[in-house]
Amino acid sequence: MGLIELASANSVWRGMDYYEKKKVVSWKPSGDASYDGQVAGSNNRVYSVHIDKVHPRKSVCNCPFAAGRRVVCKHMIALYFTAEPNAAEDFMKQVEEWEKKEEERERQHYIDLKNYVNSLSKNELQQELYNALVELEDIRNRYW
Ligand SMILES: [Zn+2]
Repeated sequence: MGLIELASANSVWRGMDYYEKKKVVSWKPSGDASYDGQVAGSNNRVYSVHIDKVHPRKSVCNCPFAAGRRVVCKHMIALYFTAEPNAAEDFMKQVEEWEKKEEERERQHYIDLKNYVNSLSKNELQQELYNALVELEDIRNRYW
């Protein structure tokens, strides 16, 4: 698993935000697959960050969230995207593809639903409508 897969969605999005806002003050490679950097935090602090792409759990940051824990924080993600902008681009492409697929799934769902309704006989429609209204009333009574 890579840094992104290990990070929470929150850390990835906030890291992306830090990357876009250029919060990485400085960075340099520190091996074939790792980087060291300084990343500006939200409270005017600058955190020392080390990321290891091959062994992501060996990445460290001295921010309160990640210090002493084997977690991937937003500063690590910001450093990763800054050092490798292609990774940020790939990530955004994946998100866009996922959203497109999700939209397509939703569209297809409503088409299927409409086809299903159109396929019913009058008796079936009356039964389904009755069931739906009872269920709706039930939900209304539960929440209002
Ligand atoms: Zn951090």
